[in-house]
Amino acid sequence: MHEYSLVQALVERVEQEVGRRGALAVHALTVSVGELGGVDPELFRTAFETFRQGTVCAQAELTVRLVPARWSCPACGAAIEKGAVLRCPACDLPARMGEGSDGLTLDRVELEVP
Ligand SMILES: [Zn+2]
Repeated sequence: MHEYSLVQALVERVEQEVGRRGALAVHALTVSVGELGGVDPELFRTAFETFRQGTVCAQAELTVRLVPARWSCPACGAAIEKGAVLRCPACDLPARMGEGSDGLTLDRVELEVP
């Protein structure tokens, strides 16, 4: 299942981060799932619950954010959410439709570091 391979890749990335920072535990994870990426957040969550057993993420709280199709500023690249005014507040330029946000992004990892 698609979601399982994504979870596996996610856990591997977190494991690398844990190793790099010498962390003792992972408290929380926040991931973004693109609206156009074909990932079902509920399936992803279920896959995570199953897959994380025995990994560094066993105790981690997972937050899944569903990210709407992205718009961004053509000048500074700032992301502009769909539904907001489609204009960069900094540059005062009209936003450009981005490559549909796809796949999965690891936004935040909360680690317990000694
Ligand atoms: Zn801008």
